[in-house]
Amino acid sequence: MDASMLINAELSEASSGERIDVFNPARPAERVGTMPRGGREDVDRAVLAATTAAPGWAALAPAERVALLAAAADALGPLIADAAKTQTREMGKILAESMADVGTADFMLRFNPPIAVQALETERVQDDLGSVAIEKRPFGAVGIIVPWNWPVSLLFVRLSAALAVGNTAVCLPSPYASLSVLQAAEAVARVLPPGVLNVVTGHGQEVGRAITEHPQIRRVSFTGSIATGRDVLQAASANIKVTSLELGGNDAAVILDDVEVNDAMIDGLVAATMTSAGQVCFAVKRLYVADSRFDEVVEAFSQRLSTFIVGDGLDPATTMGPLVNANQAKRLDKLLDEARSRGAHLNELGTLADGCDPEGYFRMPTVVTDVDESFQIVSEEQFGPAVPVMPFSDIDDAVQRANDTEYGLGASVWSADPGRAKEVGRRLEAGMVFINRHDVASAHPRGAFGGMKQSGLGRELGRFGPESYVEIQQVVDPA
Ligand code: NAD
Repeated sequence: MDASMLINAELSEASSGERIDVFNPARPAERVGTMPRGGREDVDRAVLAATTAAPGWAALAPAERVALLAAAADALGPLIADAAKTQTREMGKILAESMADVGTADFMLRFNPPIAVQALETERVQDDLGSVAIEKRPFGAVGIIVPWNWPVSLLFVRLSAALAVGNTAVCLPSPYASLSVLQAAEAVARVLPPGVLNVVTGHGQEVGRAITEHPQIRRVSFTGSIATGRDVLQAASANIKVTSLELGGNDAAVILDDVEVNDAMIDGLVAATMTSAGQVCFAVKRLYVADSRFDEVVEAFSQRLSTFIVGDGLDPATTMGPLVNANQAKRLDKLLDEARSRGAHLNELGTLADGCDPEGYFRMPTVVTDVDESFQIVSEEQFGPAVPVMPFSDIDDAVQRANDTEYGLGASVWSADPGRAKEVGRRLEAGMVFINRHDVASAHPRGAFGGMKQSGLGRELGRFGPESYVEIQQVVDPA
C-alpha cells in the first residue's frame, strides 16, 4: 500500500518527493507499504487549506456539521475491516483490537458532535452589575498529533469534538501507524468540505514541530510521551498556542484484602495489563496487592496468562501480538534485564505460536515479583506485557507508594466493597480512578479523560474536551 497525504481533499505527495517505508513488526523484513515524508512546506500547504476552509465550516449551523460528521461515519463504516487489517500489519495489535480502534472512530463521529456543539452555547449574565454575554467561537485551524498505539480512535475522539464546534484540522499520525489513519481519514474527508480535514505524514521532529510552531495554528492537541510533550509545550510557547497534552502513565492497581478473586476479576486484570501487549497509556503498569492475598492473586493471574498465544495479530488464534518496533522491544528488555540482574523473579508465560518469525518483536506476558519502587520496571512506564506485582501491608503504605511518581494518568482499586474502594481511590493522585476494572472500555465517552501531574494538561471527552476547542469572547453591554 503506497499511501498519500491528504491536503485540501486531495491525495498529495510530500514536497520533498521522499517516502518512508513501513514494516510489519511480526515480520520485520516484510514491507507493508510506504507513505510520504512530509515536511514544513507540506504543513504550510495543509494550514493554508485548513485556514481557508475555516470560515465557511464555522458558518454552518451546528446541526449541519453534526449531520455531515454522521455522514462521514457512514462513509467510514464499510472501510473499518480493511483499515483494521492494515493497522494490525503496521503496528502489530491483534485484529479484534484494531477493529475496536477503527470502530471507535465511527462511534465518535456519531456520538461526540451532538454533545460537543453544546460548548458553543452563549452564556448570559444580567444583574445589578450589568449585562454580559459569554460567547464561544472556534479557533480556526487546530493541530492534532497522535501516537501509534490507538491511532485512529485517539485522532477521532479529538477530531469529532474539534470539527463539531467549527474548527478545521491539520493532523499528524505517528510514522508507525499512519497507513490505517490515512485510510480512515480519506473516507471521512470525502464527505466534508475541502480543507476541513488534512493529514500530513512524516517524522514528528519535522512535521510535528512545524505544526506546533506554526503561527496560524492557535490550538494544538498532543497525545504521546512526556518527553515529546515537553518539546511540544516549548515549541508552542513561541506564539503562546493553547495546548492540551495527553501523556504517558504508570498506573497503579491497588488490590485490597477483601477482593473476590474470581474469573471476572482476573479477566479484568488481564484486560488492564495485556491489551495491545501492554501498550496502552492507561494500562495497569504496577500492581499492589494486600499481602494476605498476594500469593492467590499472583497465582490466578499467572495461570490465566499462561493460556496466552503470542503471534501474528492477523491469526485469529493469537491473543497478543508483537510490540510495535525494535525500540520498544529493546526498552522493555532493558528494564527486565535490570530487574533480573538485581534478583527479581521473572515468570514468562504463554506460548509463542508456531512459525513466528524469530526476528518479530514478540515479548511474552511476564509477571515480575521481588521488586520495589527502586526498580526501573516499577518506576518507569514499561509499555509492554511485563507487570511488576508487589505486596503491601497497610492501605496508607499502598496509597503512598502508588502516588510516589510524577505520573498521574489512571489508577484502580479492587475490592468486594465498592464504597471502601472509592474511599481509597479518592486518595490516589490520578485523573481517572476505576473501581474493579481498568480496561480500555472503562473510559466512558461522557467522562473526562486525562491525567494529573506530568501525565497531561486538559481533558478529552464529555463536556471538557469540546470546551477546550472553543475560544471565549465576552461581550459587555452598556449598563
Ligand atoms: P511519541 O511522543 O514518540 O510520539 C507521539 C506523536 O508525536 C507521534 O505522532 C510523533 O510523530 C509526534 N512527534 C514526535 N516528535 C515530535 C515533536 N518534536 N514535535 C511534535 N510532534 C512530535 O509517543 P509514541 O511512542 O508514539 O506513543 C507512546 C506514548 O504515548 C506513551 O508514553 C503513551 O503512554 C502515550 N499515550 C498517551 C495517551 C493519553 O491519552 N494520555 C494515549 C496514548 C498514548
